[in-house]
Amino acid sequence: MHEKMNLLRELQEVDQELAELATVRAKYAGELKGLSDEQDRVQGMVDELTAQLEQLQKEDAQLQQELLAEKDQITMVEGRLPEIQTQKEYVAVLKEIDMAKKASLDTLAKISEKEGQLTELGDDLDEKQTELAAIAENSAARQAEVDQILAESDATCVARQATRDSLAKELPNTLLSKYQRIFSRRGGLAVACVVDGACLGCNMQLPPQQYNRLHRGNELQSCPHCNRLLYMNRA
Ligand SMILES: [Zn+2]
Repeated sequence: MHEKMNLLRELQEVDQELAELATVRAKYAGELKGLSDEQDRVQGMVDELTAQLEQLQKEDAQLQQELLAEKDQITMVEGRLPEIQTQKEYVAVLKEIDMAKKASLDTLAKISEKEGQLTELGDDLDEKQTELAAIAENSAARQAEVDQILAESDATCVARQATRDSLAKELPNTLLSKYQRIFSRRGGLAVACVVDGACLGCNMQLPPQQYNRLHRGNELQSCPHCNRLLYMNRA
């Protein structure tokens, strides 16, 4: 019985180490996910600003076209002036020129406003792109560090897993599955030490008869309160 219990204790030690490695790996995975989410978030902002900038550039180009058309219109109407015969016609043409000039001034004002927006948006975009580049750089550096840590952790995992497999092979299947069941249900502690008649897994006192049986050490005992497999420190 002692031999099986010793195997179980060794197995538990390895399983606890494997569980800890898994926790650490999950923590690193979470950290990398956080970095990648942050990068995606800023990339999303850059994409949105780029789309807005393209839209503004289109609107600006259209206004420039309108301005050209309005200038052509002014030149054309002014070209009619020398052929005018009557005062009435003259007043009408002057009025037309005046309106065309006003329209072109309006368009110029819109272009100036549009270009102000373009400058502002361009600055925002530059800022976000700089931020994105810094995040990408940090993220790549951290990724490289974490990759190295994980590669070392992989090697440790493989070694521990091999130890675990060879320990598990030494144990009867029913005992092994009982141990595994308790290990996963009882927070990674399936094998508990008994001190002063109490199970250290749940800190409950064992019935005296069971304590005596445990002392004799002929059979594996389970804690009646938490079901953990029990052993005594015989040092
Ligand atoms: Zn217990």
